[in-house]
Amino acid sequence: MDRYASLPPFHERLQRLPELATDLWWSAHRDARNVFRRLDYSLWRRTAHNPVLMLWRIAPARLAAAAADNAFLALYARALERLDNARAAKGSWWAVRFPQLAGQSIAYFSAEFAVHQSLPIYAGGLGVLAGDHCKEAGDLGVPLVGVGFMYPQGYFHQQVSPDGWQQEVYEHLNWSDAAIEPALGPDGQRCVTAVPLGDRTVLANVWQVRIGRVQLYLLDTDLDENAPWDRELSARLYGGDRETRVQQEIILGIGGVRALKALGIKPAVFHLNEGHAAFVVLQRIRDAIEAGATFDAALAEIQQTTVFTTHTPVPAGHDAFSFQMVEKHLEGCWGTLGPYRDRFLALGAYDNGGGSQFNMTALAIRSAGAINAVSALHGKVTREMWNGMWPGVSEPDRPVGFVTNGVHLSTWVAADMDDLFAQYLGRDWLQHHDDPGLWDGILAIPDEALWSVREGLRRYLFTFVRERARDRWTVERVGTPRVVAAGTLLDPNALTIGFARRFAGYKRSELIFTDPERLARLLNTYDRPAQIIFAGKAHPADDVGKHHLQRVYRRALDPIFGGRVAFVDDYDLHVAHFLVQGCDVWLNNPRKPLEASGTSGMKAAINGVPHLSIGDGWWAEGFTGTNGWTIEGGLTGAPDEAVDAADAQALYTLLEQEVVPTFYDRDAQGIPRRWLALVRESIRTVAPRFSARRMVKEYVEKKYAPAMSRPVTVP
Ligand SMILES: *Cc1c(COP(=O)(O)O)cnc(C)c1O
Repeated sequence: MDRYASLPPFHERLQRLPELATDLWWSAHRDARNVFRRLDYSLWRRTAHNPVLMLWRIAPARLAAAAADNAFLALYARALERLDNARAAKGSWWAVRFPQLAGQSIAYFSAEFAVHQSLPIYAGGLGVLAGDHCKEAGDLGVPLVGVGFMYPQGYFHQQVSPDGWQQEVYEHLNWSDAAIEPALGPDGQRCVTAVPLGDRTVLANVWQVRIGRVQLYLLDTDLDENAPWDRELSARLYGGDRETRVQQEIILGIGGVRALKALGIKPAVFHLNEGHAAFVVLQRIRDAIEAGATFDAALAEIQQTTVFTTHTPVPAGHDAFSFQMVEKHLEGCWGTLGPYRDRFLALGAYDNGGGSQFNMTALAIRSAGAINAVSALHGKVTREMWNGMWPGVSEPDRPVGFVTNGVHLSTWVAADMDDLFAQYLGRDWLQHHDDPGLWDGILAIPDEALWSVREGLRRYLFTFVRERARDRWTVERVGTPRVVAAGTLLDPNALTIGFARRFAGYKRSELIFTDPERLARLLNTYDRPAQIIFAGKAHPADDVGKHHLQRVYRRALDPIFGGRVAFVDDYDLHVAHFLVQGCDVWLNNPRKPLEASGTSGMKAAINGVPHLSIGDGWWAEGFTGTNGWTIEGGLTGAPDEAVDAADAQALYTLLEQEVVPTFYDRDAQGIPRRWLALVRESIRTVAPRFSARRMVKEYVEKKYAPAMSRPVTVP
């Protein structure tokens, strides 16, 4: 902790505060979150929940008061005890279930990880999934290390112009404000790895992020020794052109494997989270050949120990590069693989229409023994989409399975819900939350208690939205219409629909505006008002997505909706927490079957926010008939315009005839009994099945453990 050397010494009773602040395990565990919340609540809020920043800024008097506060000290002691237990992982699920695999580990490669908002190295769902996977692996004691990128400028902050055009603002991360430290090799020296790139060598710093038992190792090329353009390579997530992208992927895959070696970590299994990291395979084949294997033996061994998860049914979402571009940048990477260069390049060859290219997903598919999609429906779509990989093999026989995504419960459940669960499911509900039987306890929660928590969560959301609008008004001096668009006129008692996701065509953010007058009537009904809160970023290079955002923003500015359509800018983990917990309904209307899974709806459902969704992705498995609604236009496969029109009709009908009337059907005490039945069913059916716990156990039992239990055939 020498980065803290310049801080005033902490009282001896609080000496481990920096240690707790710099292990992001705290962010996923309520006892630990409460330590910082309680230490200085105002600072906690002002720093957007960043304990590292808090420790730099906190007044000595507050620290002194905390050191003398017995209740605080008890909380602090309990959090540290839990952290120590999490790190030791003694008696964990993994240790008990797989004692014979002790000492082995899994490397999980991902281009983004969303662990906490203070570490902005994620763009969206892919990163959140990776972050939740790591947190849950830690809770289960699974020996996993994550490998990714440390982007010094991260992903952008979103600002929206008066006309609704997205502006990307990049900020340089202040390293001392984040829970990140240099990774040290076995010799105690700072770990730096060298990656051949084209005709030169690029150095990458290795950083370490702690998440309890799980460590993340992140690469960053911003070193003095590198040329200025190479220093920029890792600057931003998804910020550059194709050339930048292929170089980033070489650094992630090849540099990542080399970094693990330098750190003395020898994973038994490599999990590629999306195709971005597939160059892992190149370095591993090369290492095996160096150790004496033939190309075929090396490839066979790698197939046995590689797990690949694919995430998108949208063809353009799969990285492909011209062979010329790939060869140019791989020039220095071949080494002993040189004689097999054509065979390696053939592993990536795929014609997605428009000629053969080097396709990262094709490379991953041909190199992984276990390939999975992220929902049952996405599995089928993937088998169809990549039919060219398995000529003559019928769809059901193609080797792509599925592990449906899940969300990390203790990260996403609201504190007030947690209290309610503790009371009715038992204090240790979190320990066995993937047991469906446990959740029958939800039925015993009195309506009054459940409704009071739901209303409270909606109020927190409105406080949050209002404070943001106030900031835009007082700090940025935005004009009045934009203060309204930011949500100032929202009604804290009205039915609130949430829609937060990346702006991309297939997600159809404007579907609900298909018939503006009909929507305006629905929102402005005097005694049963409704309102919609939008949030989401468009990919910085996606002008089509930015136009979608702009059209939504213009609706938020349009007086016909009475200030009942709001846009909350700069969607990130922090905003997501308030939205998924505080809305009443979570809307999801992609053009089926283009949403591979979706996870925001799961986060909402476990907080008692029923899902109103197209039957796509996880909802095709999650909908039971009584835990939300499925929007059925009934025209799948027709031209887009016809499908969209039919889906919009179905959405209006559900809102007018089901959602709004149920929400406002109150008894003499003002309690919406029928609505609360939905809230309960939503929690009861989603929490056990769509949790990261169920997901990680499935990965371990079906993918990791079988790969680890076999004899190694190649050195
Ligand atoms: C959960 C989450 C996502 C992914 O949500 P989808 O439903 O898959 O669109 C994206 N961004 C943030 C910040 C999230 O928390």
